Amino acid sequence: MKFVSINNKRIIKSFTEAVLLGVAEDGGLFMPENIEQNEFEFQKKKNADFKEIAVELTEYFIGNEFNVTDVIERAFYFEPEIKELNSNTFILELFQGPSLAFKDYGARFLAEVINEISLNNKRRFIVLAATSGDTGSAVARSFLAKEGIKVVLLFPSGKITQLQRKQFTTLGKNIFPLEVRGTFDDCQSLVKRAFLDNEIRREVVLISANSINIGRLIPQIYYYYYAASRLNADDLIFVVPSGNLGNLTAGLIAKRAGLKTGEFISALNVNKAFKEYLESGKIKAKNVVETISNAMDVLNPNNLERIKYLFGNNLREMNKDISAISVTDEETKRIINKVYAKSNYILDPHGATAFAAWEKFNEREKPGIILETAHPAKFIDIYEPEIAKDINIPESLKELKNKEERKIIIENGYEIFKNKLLEVAKI
Ligand SMILES: *Cc1c(COP(=O)(O)O)cnc(C)c1O
Repeated sequence: MKFVSINNKRIIKSFTEAVLLGVAEDGGLFMPENIEQNEFEFQKKKNADFKEIAVELTEYFIGNEFNVTDVIERAFYFEPEIKELNSNTFILELFQGPSLAFKDYGARFLAEVINEISLNNKRRFIVLAATSGDTGSAVARSFLAKEGIKVVLLFPSGKITQLQRKQFTTLGKNIFPLEVRGTFDDCQSLVKRAFLDNEIRREVVLISANSINIGRLIPQIYYYYYAASRLNADDLIFVVPSGNLGNLTAGLIAKRAGLKTGEFISALNVNKAFKEYLESGKIKAKNVVETISNAMDVLNPNNLERIKYLFGNNLREMNKDISAISVTDEETKRIINKVYAKSNYILDPHGATAFAAWEKFNEREKPGIILETAHPAKFIDIYEPEIAKDINIPESLKELKNKEERKIIIENGYEIFKNKLLEVAKI
């Protein structure tokens, strides 16, 4: 399939071109050109495995621009797991990858695709991303030690946990973390500006690893199909903990491509810009509030433009498919304790936000499935001791304790950032 700019359908690119560009010349994000209702081979049988689903959907959405089977084999050595908490509530665990968060699905797929592209290209490649926590480690680990590719990661000072930070500041090699004295939205603005900077783009092939990159979005479609297929359900309500709305957008694309589902719940913490948008067509909130689900502390969600595009800017249609529900930290903590007591299951704060949103949703006759986007061990500090002691800490996190960090601290200013980026390019 070809990909078009959401601002201008006459800007048409191959998937590879769209991945390398990040955004189109006119600043528009890329979307698949024509998504039609489909029935896929794997939907005809029960229990198709994740890779089989991924291969068929990659062939549909992208085609054969690269060796699809190879890329899927290398990217996905893990798969989602589904837990049943009660007769109408399921958990879709998406944290089985190396960074222990769902972002591994997008990042690893993107890394393998870019690796294929860079092998036949003599230019310098820099992968650039802003991170509010989990993007950093997913991207860093996916691209670690890839020949001819450097990774520059911007993150806001003091806004992400030490553990999250250490997952990408201790890797060394081709990974360059930049700590910005500012907010996540500041980091995101710096990144956006770099992509419009021709001076930088003459020096290096600059690739976005944020969820603006269509290469991260497409593979996130796959687990929606996986869940529906495994549960053999055509009315699942997907409850999606939302920040930049990449995960939600992927689900909405799946539905456009023929996946039968109920509606989508976009779970938000108190940063409820998307809820405001659905209610009024405008975002009013001005200041980001820090929460325990910090990967969702976003006011200017990257993928909102894609959702508007999918619905032709029609708010009423959007509201038919999506309910946005906002949850406070108190409610999130309460639900963590409740689900632990009742089901002996430990939610991470992002999944817990979604669970709390599900409990607030008033049409629960259909089955709901909560996307559990990260492993609770990543946020061990927020738990009460009796729950914390029950969290199984994966080896990869234990190892971080004694590892040394390497990062560069910069002020929040474009020229400062640009100079650093050009310096890294020349290393
Ligand atoms: C990034 C992230 C989210 C938000 O996902 P979006 O696709 O940006 O909406 C939710 N949970 C966790 C753990 C994350 O890392």
